[in-house]
Amino acid sequence: MFKAVDPKINFVEMEKKWLAFWTENKIVEKYLQKNNNSSKKYFFLDGPITANNQMGVHHAWGRTYKDLWQRFKNMQGFKQTFRNGFDNQGLWVEVEVEKALGFKSKKEIEKFGIEKFVDECKKSTLHWADVQTEQSKRLGYFMDWDNSYYTMGEENNYAIWFFLKKCFEKNLIYKGRDSVPWCPRCGTAISQHEILQEEYKELTHDSVFFELPIVGRDNERFLVWTTTPWTIPANVALVVNPQMEYFLVTGSTGINFWVLGNLAESVFGKNTIVKERVTGDKLVGLKYTGPFDVLPAVIKAKEEKPKTFHSVVASKDLVTETEGTGIVHIATGCGTEDFALGKETNLPVISAIDEAANYLEGFGDLSGKNAKNDPDLILKNSLLEKNLFKIMPFLHRYPVCWRCKTELVWRVVSEWYIKMDPLREPMKKSAKQSKWIPSWGLDREIDWLNHMSDWLISKKRYWGLALPIWECAKCHAFTVIGSKEELKKKAIEGFRFASARPSRDGGFEGHTPHRPWIDKVKIKCEKCGEIASRIPDVGNPWLDAGIVPFSTLIDPQTKKVSYLTDKNYFSQWYPADLVSECFPGQFKNWFYSILAMSTVLEGKSPFKVLQSYALVRDEKGEEMHKSKGNAIWFDEAAEKMGVDVMRWMYLTQNPELNLNFGYKTADEIRRRFHLMLWNVYNFFVTYANINKFEIRNLKFEFKNVLDRWILSRLNNLIKVVTASLEEYDAYTASESIEKFVNDFSTWYIRRSRNRVGNEFFNTAYIVLLTLAKLLAPFTPFLAEEMFKNLSDQESVHLQAWPEPESEKINHDLEKKMAIVREIVEMGHAKRKQAEIKVRQPLSKFEIRNLKFEIKDELVRLIKDELNVKEVEFKDGEGDLQVDLDTTITPELKEEGEAREIIREIQEKRKEAGCKLDEKISVGLPSWPKRLEEDIKRKTLASDLYQANQLEIKK
Ligand SMILES: [Zn+2]
Ligand SMILES: [Zn+2]
Repeated sequence: MFKAVDPKINFVEMEKKWLAFWTENKIVEKYLQKNNNSSKKYFFLDGPITANNQMGVHHAWGRTYKDLWQRFKNMQGFKQTFRNGFDNQGLWVEVEVEKALGFKSKKEIEKFGIEKFVDECKKSTLHWADVQTEQSKRLGYFMDWDNSYYTMGEENNYAIWFFLKKCFEKNLIYKGRDSVPWCPRCGTAISQHEILQEEYKELTHDSVFFELPIVGRDNERFLVWTTTPWTIPANVALVVNPQMEYFLVTGSTGINFWVLGNLAESVFGKNTIVKERVTGDKLVGLKYTGPFDVLPAVIKAKEEKPKTFHSVVASKDLVTETEGTGIVHIATGCGTEDFALGKETNLPVISAIDEAANYLEGFGDLSGKNAKNDPDLILKNSLLEKNLFKIMPFLHRYPVCWRCKTELVWRVVSEWYIKMDPLREPMKKSAKQSKWIPSWGLDREIDWLNHMSDWLISKKRYWGLALPIWECAKCHAFTVIGSKEELKKKAIEGFRFASARPSRDGGFEGHTPHRPWIDKVKIKCEKCGEIASRIPDVGNPWLDAGIVPFSTLIDPQTKKVSYLTDKNYFSQWYPADLVSECFPGQFKNWFYSILAMSTVLEGKSPFKVLQSYALVRDEKGEEMHKSKGNAIWFDEAAEKMGVDVMRWMYLTQNPELNLNFGYKTADEIRRRFHLMLWNVYNFFVTYANINKFEIRNLKFEFKNVLDRWILSRLNNLIKVVTASLEEYDAYTASESIEKFVNDFSTWYIRRSRNRVGNEFFNTAYIVLLTLAKLLAPFTPFLAEEMFKNLSDQESVHLQAWPEPESEKINHDLEKKMAIVREIVEMGHAKRKQAEIKVRQPLSKFEIRNLKFEIKDELVRLIKDELNVKEVEFKDGEGDLQVDLDTTITPELKEEGEAREIIREIQEKRKEAGCKLDEKISVGLPSWPKRLEEDIKRKTLASDLYQANQLEIKK
């Protein structure tokens, strides 16, 4: 006997029951250890999840994939590491803590104390890691949760030191001065990798047209346009395109302006008077005077590079023909391209702002005022007044900080870089060694590798990897330290405790390699012998995540990072069989950083296969945002829809397309798949119990065509699902399962309702038990629920993956059954057309032009399904056609009435709560006497009696 099935199943409650069961019975532990002695190994490398918040439903998509692949491999008998990762260093953690503490600037952090702040960061990220662990468990994600890796861990940090030392030895690390995108709130540079498409906002700024008098030419001016007026005081030069044509146009005040020919009309209107036309190269070298020439910072720049200061230079790349004036304002201190051009053409550099975007000393009244907060500071500035031509609001896509959404500025700063030119080709070679799914992922990665500039690895922040770079205060020579041991050896100060007792004033030893403790350690400059200190910067977070192919393989014997010791354990696993992450963004981030680090350390790709997927959107296809109010937290969705429904939504999604997540979709999925499966499972259990079916009755000779067909379909399904999962194609696998369940329910069970006997039970049992195993990696809860009821085994998650029985596969039968179902559908359409219900028997159904013969067993299915007495075949050319004889004779009419009466009695039985095998008496106004026995048999009625209306007695 099976446990009775609740037809009104509450999936959420059912899931909680199994979560408790798995914990109580140590199922997860047993699952993790299942293949300990296996010689087959499989290494899934987990990209760490940012531990600074609870999970959203977008996290659950990726985690469902990760769980699916690992569960599949586990059932197949592969030994795995099952290490989940948390990313907990870096700006994202700091920003959360700053928010919690109400800080608005770096000054407040320093006042609070770096040590206390860093402690808060650790506490916060560990808290969120715990929350995410519990949420992942709720998702049914089986991992070695007590053995997760943390990017803040010593293993990780020292492994990055090792990597950076290798880079240093290969001469790849340098300190560079550059104009970089900068967040004035976070007070740090934003690396090129971090500025993604998504990190732009549509913003309207006041753009300015301003005029600059040309030296030595009376009444001639350059007309210049900029969308960033705050940079005008830092102007050092102008750019023209040497090949394009420029016009000298007379303005309404009688002054003559140089503008790009193609833009003259847009600025001055039609009927402009063009006094002169020249190509841009004729303007190169001309000098001009600027509005802010009286400021000390500008005077200094003029003295520095008098030849190029305020001159016109040529560039083909910087001039656009669609907006502005075609004469481009250059502020070398306030833009990456400007800075690069300045290097090429020997322009002076005026640094304009500090790390909070306040004007520096030397800017007169502007000094100390914020460049971004108030545009009028420049627009209404008395110095600019006489040069102002016009102000125009301008809508453009402007980059913002990816963490705090503050508008970025550009600053000239000294930062640390890894040279990428020497790595470009080797990294492309590495990338091509791996299989990318979808395949265009590789093209995207190669495109990025072709265009990437040097890797900016430093951040002027507090909580993160302590960059192991020690720089001499006197001669500025620097060195990179590759390990804690090396540092200990070289330290001349601050490594050990000052006293025997650890105290806050003590040294670095005993602390994790983080600020502020690591900053105490001094070494001797190898060049001049002076004291060298660590640079105060922390690392780019993608260093933290990029090292994990190396840092997370811990030798179980020595408990040490295998890669840094004897590499024995490491070489058993590396490179990973799979990484699986969401692709937008990761081309420039995680995929990039693991490729870079692995190429430097091992000269190859750290993964064999990369599987990726798109983004989660809301039900309308719009981006989810906390501020928009359409974001869905994981907990809420799990509680409302259950995680098996959520998982099925993820796994039946084409991973190349964005997934529109919502409760309406979830409801459709539940009805379409979960409830359909639940209902057939319920049907089987109910009738198997009534008929006292016992598993030991299983016999393995199947005669009925429906049994042979569904078992052929089942074994084919095992083949398809296995092959799809081997190819990391969850979409095909899940769609195939869904199609199978549909066939099983709407054809096999439907056509078997009148033959519920042992053969049916045996078949349905095999199907359901196998389905439970196939579904275990997809919907672990529903699979367990069915499996535990159908078998006496401990858990479906400790089972082996089903093997197909090839001898049961009958392609010919499957093909013919498909045609039969097609014919039946055509027959139903004919009935609908004639408006005759299926319950009304008809005499004849004709099938024309069927290209092959079908056996009686299949013909009988057609007869039963269409409720016809005869099926006739007519050979001929042309398409398959059917015809239905719709004549209803008095006998047929009586039979139809009997069917209707049977249906009504069944309804009554249900309403009265009769047991399925309970006998009843039935009162009826009238019934076809010829069919009395038939009615009695089909409704379990012991007698029929005359009554005014239908009634039943128990
Ligand atoms: Zn920011
Ligand atoms: Zn030195």
